[in-house]
Amino acid sequence: MKILFASQVEPAERWLPLLRSSLPGDEFLLEAKSAIDVALIASPPPGTLERLKGAKLVQSLWMGVEKLLADPAYPRGVPLARLVDPGMVAAMTETVLYHVLDWHRRFYRYRENQAQGRWHRFRQYLASDHTVGILGLGELGTEAARKLRALGFNVAGWSRRPKSIEGVFSSTSIAEVLQRSDVVVCLLPLTDQTRGVLDKDRLALIKKGGGVINLARGPHVVVPDLLSALDSGHLAHAYLDVFDEEPLPAASPLWRHPGVTLTPHAAALTEPRTAVAKVVENIERVRRGEPALNLVDFAAGY
Ligand code: NAP
Repeated sequence: MKILFASQVEPAERWLPLLRSSLPGDEFLLEAKSAIDVALIASPPPGTLERLKGAKLVQSLWMGVEKLLADPAYPRGVPLARLVDPGMVAAMTETVLYHVLDWHRRFYRYRENQAQGRWHRFRQYLASDHTVGILGLGELGTEAARKLRALGFNVAGWSRRPKSIEGVFSSTSIAEVLQRSDVVVCLLPLTDQTRGVLDKDRLALIKKGGGVINLARGPHVVVPDLLSALDSGHLAHAYLDVFDEEPLPAASPLWRHPGVTLTPHAAALTEPRTAVAKVVENIERVRRGEPALNLVDFAAGY
């Protein structure tokens, strides 16, 4: 088969040796000059999508696909698969645990105190004193929920369809989840239904002194509403990995706000060493004429 690798971000030199050794009989191309069977893409160079009309599968090299779905050049009718990479899921789980523990153990306050040379010990809480709300109980949210349960936290999760995860309160009502939550982790896909989901009214439902951890997409959070909730003291701290505009502009107040810890969209990166087996599995399915795994539902937008 002819397999296109097209990405302005993912390093071809890390992917291609692994792909070639797993699929020695296939031909890999870096440009869609002729008809191709499968396209492996993540932020492809301009003009790539227009050339994929006859492809049997577009395999995203990322978990979030909202940009591809919004691109009018995407060839409608060609199935699109998300990448569910075990290395990326593990990395995201580590990031969730790190931020939840930072908030729960008040380490963000100890960092502030260190900067001021202040020796002061805060009250200690048990994990079971706190409820972590997870928006999105998909591949990432479910794994984070399980690991947080293992640490003893109460966990409440929101999803579109009802879910059953052992020990986790789950609901299709976001209000029910937020009202129980001390700290909220956003792991939703960005769709018309989830854009702006954490606005003034929703943030007000989180318990006082709580935290927000957004590791999904910037537009899930209404930033002026978040800053108001931090400035009023309703929320104690926010952890943001994703932003409306990336890189975050130098003039953004988020850079220097004392209530914000930020990272440069680095919560979880695709890890070729663990992802290649998943990509190969989908290519083999296409070869056998079977539907690929993790196909995107175009109507739902994820
Ligand atoms: P997923 O498996 O598709 O799960 C999405 C979850 O969100 C599902 O539980 C889904 O409900 C729920 N959901 C979607 N729309 C909803 C709505 N309108 N109301 C309530 N719940 C809704 O996605 P994933 O693989 O976990 O990834 C989630 C997102 O994380 C990605 O789309 C991407 O944007 C982001 N991400 C960020 C990074 C980073 O480095 N910052 C890295 C990887 C991924 P159902 O279960 O009912 O379908």
